[in-house]
Amino acid sequence: MNTNFDSYYSDLHRRAVRQLEARRRECENLDPAFAALQAKRNRVFSMPAQGGKLALSTIRLEEEALLKRFGLPKDYLQLTYTCPLCKDTGYVGEPIKRKCACRLKLEQRERAEAGRINERETFANFKESIYPDPASLEEGKKIAILCQRYANALPHPKIPQLYLYGPGGRGKSYMGNAIAAYAIEQGIDSLRLTAYRMIEEVMEGFSTNTSPLLRFTQVPLLVLDDLGTEPMIPNVTAESLFAIADQRNSSRLATVYISNLDQNELAQRYEERIASRIDAVPDRHPHRQPGGHHLSGGGDATVL
Ligand SMILES: [Zn+2]
Repeated sequence: MNTNFDSYYSDLHRRAVRQLEARRRECENLDPAFAALQAKRNRVFSMPAQGGKLALSTIRLEEEALLKRFGLPKDYLQLTYTCPLCKDTGYVGEPIKRKCACRLKLEQRERAEAGRINERETFANFKESIYPDPASLEEGKKIAILCQRYANALPHPKIPQLYLYGPGGRGKSYMGNAIAAYAIEQGIDSLRLTAYRMIEEVMEGFSTNTSPLLRFTQVPLLVLDDLGTEPMIPNVTAESLFAIADQRNSSRLATVYISNLDQNELAQRYEERIASRIDAVPDRHPHRQPGGHHLSGGGDATVL
C-alpha cells in the first residue's frame, strides 16, 4: 500500500517536471532571452557556492520581468506542486517526518474504496465463464445458489456464518461481493474488506484512540475477504479476530469469511477458540458431502 502512495507522489512530481519543461519550451519560443537566462542559471549552478544565491535571485528577477512583459504569471517557470505543503512528497516536517494532510486524505479515500462494494459484481452479472472446467462450473453454480439463498435470508440467515474457501480464481471474492451488494440493495448495512485491511484499520484505531473493533462487531453484514493473508501481529491479530467473531456470533450477525485455507489449515493458523468461532473446524461438520459444499448446524462452510 505504501508503495502505491509512493508511486502516486513520484508520478505527480514527474508530471510537474514535464509541465514545467513544456512551459519553458513555450517561453523559449516566445523570446530567446528566456534560453539565455536559463543558460546563465546553469552556469551559476556549476559555480562554487559563494555568490551563487545572489546571482540566482538576480536571474530570477530578470526572468520575472521578462514573463511580465509577455503577460505571464511570475511563477510560470517554477515547478507547480499539487500540494505546496509537502511539495508532492506526501510528508511534512523535519527532521521527524509525518504524513501530509493530502496523504491522509488519500488514505481515507482508499479506505472508503476498500470497504466499498463493487456494484458490478452481483448475482445478476455472474459469469459462468470464470470457471476453468465443467466440473468446477457445476460446483460454482451450486455455490452461487447457496450464496443467493444466504443473501435472501439477510439480515438474519438461519446460519449466520458462511465460510467460503478453496484455491484462488474460483470466484470466492466475487460471491462475497455479490452477497454484500445484494444486502446493500435491501438496505442492510454491509462492510466488505480484506482481513489484511481490517487488521490495518484496527491498528490505526488503536493509535487514534477510537474503538477500532466497534464497526466490525456491529455492522449487520461483514464480508471478510482473504482471511489468512493478514499479518499475525502479536496481541492484535488473534485478539481482534477472536473478539469480532465472538461478538458477531453471540449477536447472531451475518458474517461471510472468504479464505484460501481449508478447514484444517484454518485450525492450524488460528487458535482453536478462533477457528471454532469462524466455525470451520472439520469435526463440527458432520454433514460434509464428499463432492463439495456442506452445511452444518454451527456454521456453513463452502468449498469454492
Ligand atoms: Zn501534501
